[in-house]
Amino acid sequence: MNQNLYEILGVETTATKIEIKSAYRKAALEHHPDKGGNEEEFRRKNEAYEVLSDDEKRKVYDTELNRPKPVNRGLNMFGMFGNLFKFVQKAHKEFQKERPVSYEKFVSLEQICRRETVSLRITRDRLCGCQIRDNGPCDECSGKGYTVSTKTINGNLSSIRMNCTPCRGTGKKIMYCNRCREKSGIVDSPKTIQFDISPDTLDGYRFLFPGEGNQGRNTLPGDFIVVIRLQPHTYRIDSQNLVYIRETTLKEALCGYTEYLHHPDGRRFRISVESTSPDKPCVVKGYGLTTDGDFIVRHSVSFPNLSEEQKEQIARIL
Ligand SMILES: [Zn+2]
Ligand SMILES: [Zn+2]
Repeated sequence: MNQNLYEILGVETTATKIEIKSAYRKAALEHHPDKGGNEEEFRRKNEAYEVLSDDEKRKVYDTELNRPKPVNRGLNMFGMFGNLFKFVQKAHKEFQKERPVSYEKFVSLEQICRRETVSLRITRDRLCGCQIRDNGPCDECSGKGYTVSTKTINGNLSSIRMNCTPCRGTGKKIMYCNRCREKSGIVDSPKTIQFDISPDTLDGYRFLFPGEGNQGRNTLPGDFIVVIRLQPHTYRIDSQNLVYIRETTLKEALCGYTEYLHHPDGRRFRISVESTSPDKPCVVKGYGLTTDGDFIVRHSVSFPNLSEEQKEQIARIL
């Protein structure tokens, strides 16, 4: 009989506090043992009401209710709220992934343009294999996995079940091996991951490696994220174009020049400029970040200091 707390009280999951209270009153009258009601049924109604009438507890319970559950693991509705809490904590731990690890990988524009495959040696925390071995029951909790303590809540004495600390709720004696003793059951696990960089994976691009991050004692392995960082380079990236600012002398600007340039992917190409001005770039089609873009040479023209004589000569020519 796997009724949830709402079904036990006979209310909708959207029921208001007033509706819950009224359903409980009705049920309490009907099932009160003093009035010939079923004691077990009365206890269940009380427990359901205890959770659903408390905003905080109801919130925790609703979260748990909406969480997908593995087969054969029903909620234990019939224990005390302490049990529910223990279950919730346990369930959270069982399904929670460890927080992701982010790693910044610096790459050069040359590597990007050459579309290199990058290999990265990473070291993650993993649960040591010795933790699975059966070393007999835990001394602290005699194998139960929990300890019981009493506490006064709202004037009522309640017993609370807590996960046993030494065995971490497993009920099994934990004996660390030499490999993991220092980190209490956790070992460093190295692995090499690979990813392909390209003009599509520029600064800030993230590669996600699900489950390749750290694993905690009670968590599933988290994700590993590689964030691409582009090393400083001499170009400006403008969409698919590569913009190169060239220091150009006044003579080159006026008389033209020929020069060999290197594309970051390793290609060598020649530009021949007849005469130019700072607002007239030289565009090499198809030599951009990708073949869809262009290589654009902008000129930063430096003007020389001229003597009076030189000025006269130039004035005559122009
Ligand atoms: Zn224990
Ligand atoms: Zn070990």
